[in-house]
Amino acid sequence: MPENGETAPLLGEGIPNLARTGNLERETPADRRRRLATIRAVVYTVLTVVFVVALASVLFLWDKITGVVGHLPKDPEKAALYILNNAPVIDGHIDLPILVRSAFANNISAVDLEKPFAGHVDIPRLRKGKVGGFFWSVYTDCPDAGSEGEDFLNATWSVRDTLEQIDIARLLVQKYSDTFAWTLKSSDIKAAIGRGQIASLLGVEGGHQLGNSIQVLRTYYDLGVRYVTLTHACHNAFADSCGIFEDPKPYHGGLSKLGYALIDEMNRIGMLVDLSHTSDDTAKQAIKYSKAPVIWSHSSARAVHDVPRNVPDDILKLIGFGKGQTDAVVMVNFAPFFVAEPGKADVKAVADHVDHIAKVAGKRHVGLGSDFDGIGDVPVGLEDVSKYPALVAELYRRGWNAFDLAGLTGGNLLRVMEGAERVAAQMQKAGIPPAATKYDKRTDL
Ligand SMILES: [Zn+2]
Repeated sequence: MPENGETAPLLGEGIPNLARTGNLERETPADRRRRLATIRAVVYTVLTVVFVVALASVLFLWDKITGVVGHLPKDPEKAALYILNNAPVIDGHIDLPILVRSAFANNISAVDLEKPFAGHVDIPRLRKGKVGGFFWSVYTDCPDAGSEGEDFLNATWSVRDTLEQIDIARLLVQKYSDTFAWTLKSSDIKAAIGRGQIASLLGVEGGHQLGNSIQVLRTYYDLGVRYVTLTHACHNAFADSCGIFEDPKPYHGGLSKLGYALIDEMNRIGMLVDLSHTSDDTAKQAIKYSKAPVIWSHSSARAVHDVPRNVPDDILKLIGFGKGQTDAVVMVNFAPFFVAEPGKADVKAVADHVDHIAKVAGKRHVGLGSDFDGIGDVPVGLEDVSKYPALVAELYRRGWNAFDLAGLTGGNLLRVMEGAERVAAQMQKAGIPPAATKYDKRTDL
């Protein structure tokens, strides 16, 4: 019996073990302890080697046996579906309401979204594309050049038409209430996705739709609007636009005094500031001034394709969590004219924009804002809302991991929304009153 009371099985009576091979009679207790320690060391070393070899074999063979890398399928198309099932797309900009206006004269009874529908969006394709939510753009055209007058004071139909667009979106969400969920907060979006519904929010696409009035902004918020694009393709009383095809001559040099007051009020009520369509000066001033994170609801990267509607690198560098930076998400636009030279827009070209924004601003600051139903042309491979998985697969092929892709498809937008909601709650708690700022060119007040 071992003197120290240890009863190592290798030294048991019934085992023809190493302990019996020496001359035990003459062995001192110290020799015996040393010998037993050596035996234990050898046995543990052998067992450790066996364990490591077995573990390595399992890990190496696991991919071959299951076709799974980590938790994801190796096949990019399968991986994309897996990711999107867990982190569906929340698109920053879809123009379905303007299609209903132009093609159906606002009659939603004539619209059947359960069948293949004109344009890029219907329920079967939304489901196929793994869409968990989108901003319904409630867009109206800029007034005809000059019709508003030099100071934007002439009456237009922009506010009426915006209200009609809001009505269309709300009626369609109601009509297909099994599919669409009316959502007002980031937590509502998550809950809707959890229920398997498509979260539906509204975005007003241009300051010209506000009728020069911050009171209209608040009313839109109450109707469910959660972002306002500071400009469309025309300057307005709040801010300068970048135009569409070429940069127009600045009117204010960025934001007007009223534009700054608008951002204050947007921050206070929790309306996201959208900088798509704005001039570079407007964007720079707004991103620096806004207390809340901002968005580009549908804009791509100018360094990849040089058009004014895309975001230049010096502005992308203002985005982030660092000192002097503001949190933001740039949601990439699929419009071929903004993506690449004629005939060159495809999934890879759109992925180049995503990659570039991720490289300059970071992967936590890029999202998707297709502009579907607002664009005549589409990239090859991204023809409608059923095709988002192709883009996710392309980025997976390029080394994007599940975490980063989940940010791209919707997580980054949700973070930005949560940030804006937090700022609004703080400002309201601090007792900041509703803005009473009026457009100083107005004479009726
Ligand atoms: Zn647009």
